[in-house]
Amino acid sequence: MKKISHATAITCADHWLKDPVKKWVKQFFGLERVDFVTEHQPEIFLTTEKKEKITDIQQKITELAKDQGKELMIVVAHDGCDYGVVPVSERQAILAEAAQKAQRWGHNQRIIGLWLDEDNEPEMVYDSYSAQPEVWENAA
Ligand SMILES: [Zn+2]
Repeated sequence: MKKISHATAITCADHWLKDPVKKWVKQFFGLERVDFVTEHQPEIFLTTEKKEKITDIQQKITELAKDQGKELMIVVAHDGCDYGVVPVSERQAILAEAAQKAQRWGHNQRIIGLWLDEDNEPEMVYDSYSAQPEVWENAA
């Protein structure tokens, strides 16, 4: 498998989300650095917002991919975002959908949907590598 050397994460602006994401990326991919693109409730944004608005964030990701060869992109959602009473399982399903959508942008990146629970413990709810290993192998 192609080695991951750069990572970008789309997260809420909430500053406390960055450390657990960095820690997780270091643990799983051995990377010291993560670039963050912030968007309020990115999983909701990616699944419900108008195409023109999504294009902005898509361009940021594309530029990062071009500049630094971003191979890993993580869409982060977390417990504690103000959703009202939407259950966690449903929010995780939305996150998986958002990650799949980002995968279709086609930057040849591995896309992961990462959920942070109430204690900021990360849980992977989507991984494009598990979803389509052959695509990833061919890209290597
Ligand atoms: Zn949030």
